[in-house]
Amino acid sequence: AQRIGVLTSGGDAPGMNAALRAVVLAAEHYGMEVVAFRHGYEGLLNNEHISLQAPDVLHILQYSGTIIKSARCPRFKEEESAELAAKNLDALNIQGLVVIGGDGSFRGAHHLGKYWKGQIIGVPGTIDNDLYGTDATIGYSTAVAIAMDALDKIRDTADAMDRVFIVEVMGRHAGFIGLKSAMAAGAERMILPELQKDKPLTIAAIVKHIKRVEAVRGAGSYVMVLSEHQWPGGAVALSEQLEAEYGMPCRPCLLGHIQRGGPPTATDRVLASELGVHAVELIRDGVTGVMAGLRAGELVEVPLEETWTKKSPLDVNLLRIQHEIFNPVKKPARN
Ligand code: ADP
Repeated sequence: AQRIGVLTSGGDAPGMNAALRAVVLAAEHYGMEVVAFRHGYEGLLNNEHISLQAPDVLHILQYSGTIIKSARCPRFKEEESAELAAKNLDALNIQGLVVIGGDGSFRGAHHLGKYWKGQIIGVPGTIDNDLYGTDATIGYSTAVAIAMDALDKIRDTADAMDRVFIVEVMGRHAGFIGLKSAMAAGAERMILPELQKDKPLTIAAIVKHIKRVEAVRGAGSYVMVLSEHQWPGGAVALSEQLEAEYGMPCRPCLLGHIQRGGPPTATDRVLASELGVHAVELIRDGVTGVMAGLRAGELVEVPLEETWTKKSPLDVNLLRIQHEIFNPVKKPARN
């Protein structure tokens, strides 16, 4: 029988288990065997593998995390590591490898592809949604839902006290989680990497906006979503600055890894199921070096290198709505 390998690598994402389940069930359907490497590339180098059958994965899709564990493996960048991985895969007679992970994991997959003749397929598993070629990555929907839920809760207390809150969300170097959760929860402002790159916000500009929103809407709460790494010292430092320099009572809230746990949304479970099966079918069809993705409802294959060399932009319409209609950052011209 044809034998495929699978691993989850890098930051874990809700839905990785659902993707793993889909890979195992699809493989079984096509009469393939599945060997899972534990702890990502680390397990591939250490030959830490287990065989997986349908009963092992039947009821895991409702849990975040990954039953085969994930890890970072810095030494995988070395030539010798890729050679060792290729040797281990060949010794196990594995013909195709499914890598479930983010852009770092795909760089690793591409690196391995230079030293191993087997087929390699990527499945996008990251909450950050920062992979080109697929409308969404597995885990993104859940992370946004969790951030939205937290923002709703913050709003209750912020509104009661007429307070400013800075809520820090994940996203690595992308503002997808920040933008979507801010829109979903009606946050007044966002500080996102893509916007900071063009024109970094100053504390004076933030204060000006808070005052404008207050003047237009009356006293009340003001909730700002801050993407990680976008303010020196993060949400804590920014709220301290606002309070110290402008006497503006402000509270920080760091969501952190809460964004990666709990039950995955239906969207993530279904996306993971589709892409996991697609990955196995691509191996069956002899394809290699691509990520399985979903674009405008269609299954697609994206060359691995494109997933991190090309960038998907933030939704310009959402930005326009937020910045021009809901919480204008400039004074409307007609006033
Ligand atoms: P993610 O997949 O979530 O983006 P990381 O960026 O931590 O997570 O990458 C996961 C792993 O992929 C790394 O620990 C490393 O083993 C491997 N990797 C990342 N970049 C490269 C690279 N340029 N070459 C080879 N392997 C890489």
